[in-house]
Amino acid sequence: MGERLVLWDIDKTLVDVESVGGSVFSAAFTAFSGLDDYVPSRGPGRTEWQWFLDTLAVNNLTHLAEGFPRFLRLQDVEFRRRATELRARGRVLPGAREALERCAASPDVLSSLLTGNAVGNAHHKLQAFGLESLVETRLGGYGDDHWNRSELVGIARRRVHEATGLEFTPATTVLVGDTPNDVRAALEGGARVVAVATGYCDADTLRAAGATTVLDDLSDTEAVMEALLA
Ligand SMILES: [Mg+2]
Repeated sequence: MGERLVLWDIDKTLVDVESVGGSVFSAAFTAFSGLDDYVPSRGPGRTEWQWFLDTLAVNNLTHLAEGFPRFLRLQDVEFRRRATELRARGRVLPGAREALERCAASPDVLSSLLTGNAVGNAHHKLQAFGLESLVETRLGGYGDDHWNRSELVGIARRRVHEATGLEFTPATTVLVGDTPNDVRAALEGGARVVAVATGYCDADTLRAAGATTVLDDLSDTEAVMEALLA
């Protein structure tokens, strides 16, 4: 372990649970704010913290920003309530499990997460599909560590260093993600990026955002590993 720190995004990169994730956010935000028909805010690849703050802003509720921990607890309740639905409606994206298995088995790779999901939600989403044992979930960067996704890169590297003593650099850290925000996090936070066009953005959009390596999906495990270790 130690040649590469690979940090995976979750939604639309490893799994697709979008409809359930959105429903969980809505139910929790309604419970949090007391508003049944609040104005939603949009933008794939945001951290949940940013999503929460944006939604407060468009509903003139910025005075409730300190309530983020309570909002996360409400989301946790919803995820537990919808565990069966999550498994039934969600799916692992093509090749994701195999890519995670290869990374977990590779002595050259330390595999963890860099996701907009709060850590608890990341666990719910991976556990639903039996993926949580394939990545170092104690490490990584999460959407309740910072509202700005780019900050999660440094947070993840510090967490890895504290836990393992390993020092990764921008050249040996690789983000895998599906949105321009994932690409921006890598460029601003200091990491390489392997973009996958399995979300709402096509390959050209990801390249325009600055990604030099873009895969159609994760289905070719050899190509994935080659891109991660390049
Ligand atoms: Mg994503």
